[in-house]
Amino acid sequence: MIGGGIGGLTAALSLRQAGFEADVYEQAPALTHIGGGINMGPNAARVLIRLGLGEGLLREGVRPASTHQRRWDDGRTLQRAPLNPQCEELYGAPHVTIHRADLLAVISSGLPPERIHLGHRLLGFNDKGGHVEAWFDNGVRIDADMLVGADGIHSAVRAILFGDEAPKFAGCVAYRGLVPVERLADLELEIGSQSWVGPGGHLVHYFVSRGELLNFVGWTEHDEWSREDWTDRATVERALAAFEGWHPQIRRIIGAADECFIWALFDRDPLPRWSVGRVTLLGDACHPMYPFMGQGAAQAIEDGAALAACLRAAGDADPAVALQHYERLRLPRVTRLQELSRANKLRFHMRDGPGQEARDAEWARAGDRSPDALRWLYEFDAGAIESAPA
Ligand SMILES: Cc1cc2nc3c(=O)[nH]c(=O)nc-3n(C[C@H](O)[C@H](O)[C@H](O)COP(=O)(O)OP(=O)(O)OC[C@H]3O[C@@H](n4cnc5c(N)ncnc54)[C@H](O)[C@@H]3O)c2cc1C
Repeated sequence: MIGGGIGGLTAALSLRQAGFEADVYEQAPALTHIGGGINMGPNAARVLIRLGLGEGLLREGVRPASTHQRRWDDGRTLQRAPLNPQCEELYGAPHVTIHRADLLAVISSGLPPERIHLGHRLLGFNDKGGHVEAWFDNGVRIDADMLVGADGIHSAVRAILFGDEAPKFAGCVAYRGLVPVERLADLELEIGSQSWVGPGGHLVHYFVSRGELLNFVGWTEHDEWSREDWTDRATVERALAAFEGWHPQIRRIIGAADECFIWALFDRDPLPRWSVGRVTLLGDACHPMYPFMGQGAAQAIEDGAALAACLRAAGDADPAVALQHYERLRLPRVTRLQELSRANKLRFHMRDGPGQEARDAEWARAGDRSPDALRWLYEFDAGAIESAPA
C-alpha cells in the first residue's frame, strides 16, 4: 500500500481482516496531524465499525443530530433533516464528523505498528508479472504480490501508470479553522452540521474532536491559484473579509478562530481505468472529488473494503483479475459522486435571482440531504460484493 492516508490505512486493515498481509509505505515521517474535519456518512462508518474501530470512531468523533442548510444573509432555513439516530435506525451505522488526525489515529490503532513504514516516498515500481518491485527515496526496495497506489491527488503511482497530468484548479478556495466550543457558547449551537449558501460561496460548520472544537470551512470563488497545500495559512481578517456581509453567526465563528488555513480546490476528470496488471489505485489517487457531497474520505474507505472483498473472492486466481473486478465495481459509483459533487458547487454558489429561487423552492419541497433521500448512498455495502457481477 503506497500512502498512509485514510484510504491506504483502511485498505491495509481490510486486507488483513480478509486474511492477507499488507504493508503501508508513507512518505511523511509521522502520521500527520494536519487537516480539519471529515464528514462520514453511514456507508463509511459501517466499514470502520466492521473493522473493529467503532469504539474509537464514536469516542473521537461526534454524531450530529441534524443537517441544516441556511441562507447566507438572513439565516433563513432552506432545508433541515435529522441525521442521528435516524442513520443508525435506517442503515445500522451513524453519521459521524471527526477530525482527520483523530480518524488516522483510530484507523492506525488497528494495524501492527511494524506494518506502517513511515519516511518511505515511492519513486518507482516495476510489474514483473508474478510480483511487483518498488523502490523508495530512502534506498529501500521491496517485492510484493501487488501494489496499491493510495497516494492522494498527486499520486506518483497514477502518474507512472497513466501519465503525469497536473490536477486543474477548480476556481474555489476555502478558509478553514477550528474554534474551541466554549468561545461560542452564547450561540447555543445544536450538535449538528450547518451549511450556509450564498452568491459565489458557502460555509459549512460542524463539531469534531469529541465535541470540543467547531470546524468551519468557508468556500469562495477565485480566478487563479498556483498551488495546493493543506498547510497554507491565511489571516482571520482575510477570512472575515471573504465573508463580508454574511450572517452575524458566520462572522462570529470565523472571528473566534486563532488561526485560519487556506485550501485551494483541485480537480481531475474521472479515469476510465485504475488497474494495470498487479497494480491498482484507490481514493484520491484515482477519484479526487469536490467535498460538496462530503464523500471524499468515505469513498476511499469504501474502496478498501471492496478491494479486500474482491481479492478474497478471487482465492488463488490471478490478482490482476481481482483488480479488474474491483475497478468495475467501484468506477460507476465514484464517478456518479464526482459528478454530483461538481454539480453541487454550482447549486450552492448561485447568485440571488430566479435560479436561486427555484433551487430554494425545490429544497423546501423535497430536500436532498435527509437519510431517506440519500438511501442509494448510505445503504450501500461496499464489502458485500457477492451480489454484484464478477
Ligand atoms: C495533509 C492532508 C490534510 C487533509 N485535510 C483534510 C481536511 O481537513 N478535510 C477534508 O475533507 N479532507 C482533507 N484531506 C483530504 C482527505 O483526507 C482525502 O480527500 C480523503 O480522505 C481520501 O484519502 P486518500 O487516502 O485517498 O488520500 P490522502 O488523504 O491525500 O492520503 C494520501 C497519502 O499518501 C501519501 N503519499 C503521497 N505521495 C506518496 C509517495 N510518493 N510515497 C508514499 N506516500 C505518499 C501522502 O503523504 C498521504 O498521507 C487532507 C489530505 C491530506 C494529505
